[in-house]
Amino acid sequence: MKAVSGKRIGTIIMITLDWNIAPECISAVILSIIWLYSRRGSWLPTLRNRIFQCCFLVTFLAITTNILSTVMIAYYHVFPLWLTWLITTIYFIFTPLMGAVYCLYAATVIYQNKERLIRFMKLSMIPSILYTLLVLTNPFNKGLFDLNYQSGYVKGPWIAITYILFYAYCLGALFVAFMEKDKVEKNVFNILSAFPIIASVVIAVQQIFPTIILTGSAATCALLIIYLYLQNKQISMDYLTDIPNQLELSNMLEYLLSEYPKQHFSLFVISLRDFTQINSAFTHQVGDAFLKTIACYLASLVGQRHVYRFKGDEFAILIRQPHEVISVILKQIQERMQKPWRVKEHEAILSYVIGAVDYPESTTGIESLISSVEYAVSVAKKNYNGYVCYCDQNMFEMIQRKREIVKILKEKIANQDFEMYYQPLYSVATQQFEYAESLVRINDSPLGPIYPSEFIPIAEETGLIIEMTYMILDKVCKFARILLDEEINIKCIHVNFSAIQFRQPQLAQKVCEIIHKNNIPFSVIKIEFTESTLAENMDIIHDFVSDMEKMGIYMGLDDFGVGYSNISTVIQIPFTTIKLDKSLVWAVSKQEKSAIMVKNMIRTFKDLNLTVVAEGVEDDFQNQFMIRNGVDQIQGYYYSKPLPKEEMIRFMKEHNQNIRKG
Ligand code: C2E
Ligand code: CA
Ligand code: CA
Repeated sequence: MKAVSGKRIGTIIMITLDWNIAPECISAVILSIIWLYSRRGSWLPTLRNRIFQCCFLVTFLAITTNILSTVMIAYYHVFPLWLTWLITTIYFIFTPLMGAVYCLYAATVIYQNKERLIRFMKLSMIPSILYTLLVLTNPFNKGLFDLNYQSGYVKGPWIAITYILFYAYCLGALFVAFMEKDKVEKNVFNILSAFPIIASVVIAVQQIFPTIILTGSAATCALLIIYLYLQNKQISMDYLTDIPNQLELSNMLEYLLSEYPKQHFSLFVISLRDFTQINSAFTHQVGDAFLKTIACYLASLVGQRHVYRFKGDEFAILIRQPHEVISVILKQIQERMQKPWRVKEHEAILSYVIGAVDYPESTTGIESLISSVEYAVSVAKKNYNGYVCYCDQNMFEMIQRKREIVKILKEKIANQDFEMYYQPLYSVATQQFEYAESLVRINDSPLGPIYPSEFIPIAEETGLIIEMTYMILDKVCKFARILLDEEINIKCIHVNFSAIQFRQPQLAQKVCEIIHKNNIPFSVIKIEFTESTLAENMDIIHDFVSDMEKMGIYMGLDDFGVGYSNISTVIQIPFTTIKLDKSLVWAVSKQEKSAIMVKNMIRTFKDLNLTVVAEGVEDDFQNQFMIRNGVDQIQGYYYSKPLPKEEMIRFMKEHNQNIRKG
C-alpha cells in the first residue's frame, strides 16, 4: 500500500521521500523479467492466457505509477501539479484492479463452465467500475486524496476503500476456489489460496513497517507463483526443440473447437521413420540435433506458433489456411525431406510419412482428431517413404468401429464372455478326429458378429489379447475336462498364442497353473504360434518351448507358408507340429509348381520328424493330395467347420465311433 509520511513544519506539511520505494523498484524489475519469460510460454489466445497477460500489464502499471507518484508527491513543487494528479489517479485506479485481474484469472482457472465464468466476470467487475467512477470524481470531492501546492498530498476520508477493494478481490479468488473445491485440482487450489495469505502477510508487515511500500512485491510474488505453477513455459513448450508440445496442441484444438467450431483447419503429423537407426548410427546427441534442425525448418516454413512436437520423432502442424495453401506447404515439406539434413559433419536423408486430417470435413472432437491423425500416420507407415495419408470419412468410421470393438473386448474380458468354437482335425492314420483347434468367437455384440480376423489384430494392438488368451486357455481346459470325463477320444486341443503373449514374464508358469487347475494332463494342450513370433523373440520362445516340452506341453508352428522367416532358423525351435497354411493348400489345386513344392515340403518336414497338418482343406482333390503325400492331420471345411461346444461333443461322439466321414 502506498505509505505516506509527512513532517509538519510550521503550518506546511512537507512530504519527504522518507518511505522506502526500493522493494517497489526491485519488484518492477522482477516483474518485467517474468513478463518477458511468460511471453515465451503458451501462445494460445485463450481467455485465461489473455487475463494472465492482463495481470502483468495492470501490476506493472500499478507498480510504476506507485513509484512515480511517490517521487512526484515528495517533490510536488518540482513537477507540474496536473501531472502528479494524473499519475496518482492512475495509481489509484490500478491498485485495486490488480486484485480484480487476479480474481478473474483465478475464475478462468476454476470455472470450466463458460456461462458461469462470464456471469462471475460481469458481477465481479461491478465494484471496479463503481470504484473507477469514484477515482474519476476525486478531483471534485477529494474523497481519496488531495494535492495542492500548499499542503502537498493529503489523504482523503475514503482512501481505505482502495485497499479494502484490493483485498476483497483477493478474498473473492479464495472464496471461488473454496466454493468449487471439489472440481478444482488440489495443486490449483493450493496456488490460488496462496494469494490471500501473501496479502495478509503484506498487511501485517505494512503495519510494522509503514514506511516500506510492499504492494508491488506482493503482486509480483503472486504472479511468480502463478507463472511457476500454472503458466510455466515448461508446461507448454518442448524442452529440446523449443516448439510447443502435445499438451499445447490439445489445448489449441480445444480452443479452436470451442471458439471457432465452424472454421476449417488442417492438422498433419510428419512422422520420421526408423529414427532409432539415426540415433544408433550417429549417437543420441546428433539425433537430437537432427530433430532440432527439422523443428527449426518447419517453424520457419509455417511459423513457430503452428508447429508442435507431437511425439519423440513426430511433428504436428496445425494451420487455418485454405486447401491450396496447405497443398503448397505439403509439397515444400516433401521436397525438402528428399534432400539430406546436416548436423555439423553428419548428413542424413530422413525417411518420413505424413498423416493428415481436416476439420470439420473428416472428423470433429479433440480425441477423434488426435486418434484420426495417429491412425492416418499408422496407415502411411505401411506405405512407401514420403507417403501422405489423409484420414477421410471412411477411415474415421473405421476408427470409430475399432474403438467400439475395444470397448466390447474389454466388456467381454470383464465378463469372461468369449464363445469358444472347436474345429476337428482329421487324423489320417487312425481315421478319427482326435485333435481340434480352439477358435475364439464374438457372435453376439452391439455390432453384431465380429470376425476373429477383425478383433484379434485389435486385441493384439491394444494388448488385450494377453488377458484374453489366459481366459481362452482356461475355457479350453474346461472343455477338454468335459471330453475326458465323457471318455471321448481327444488327444490334444490346439490353442492359438499371439506373438505378444511371449513377451509376458512368467508365461510358462501361468500356462502350467491354468492347465493344472483344470486337472487335465499337460499333453492335452498344444500351443500354436506363428513365424512372426520368432522375428522378435527367438531366444525367449526357444526357452519357452523347451520349458513347455519338459512339462509335456507341445508346440505347433501355425500358418507355415505366409511368413518370410529363414526356415533354417525356424527349424531350430523344438516344436513338434507344423501346419501348412490355407494359401499353400489352395495353391496345390491351382498350380502344378506349387503342388510339387508342397509335396517336397511335406516330405522334408516328415524327415525332420514333425507332425504335418494341412489347414483349409475344402475339397476332395486337396484332401486326396494331402493324404497321398503323407500329411498326418487335416483341418478344413471338407471335414467340418469350427463348431460350438455342444455340437463339437456330438461330432466327436459320432465320428470317433463311425470313422468314415458323415
Ligand atoms: P488360424 O489360427 O489360422 O485359424 C484357422 C482359421 O482358418 C480359422 O478362422 C478357421 O475357421 C479357418 N478355416 C479352417 N478351415 C477352413 C477352410 O476349409 N476354409 C476356410 N476358408 N477357412 C478355414 P477363424 O476362426 O476366422 O480365425 C482366424 C484367425 O483368428 C486364426 O487363424 C487365428 O489367427 C485367429 N484366432 C482365432 N482364434 C484365436 C484365439 O483364440 N487366439 C488367438 N491368438 N488368435 C485366434
Ligand atoms: Ca491357428
Ligand atoms: Ca492357421
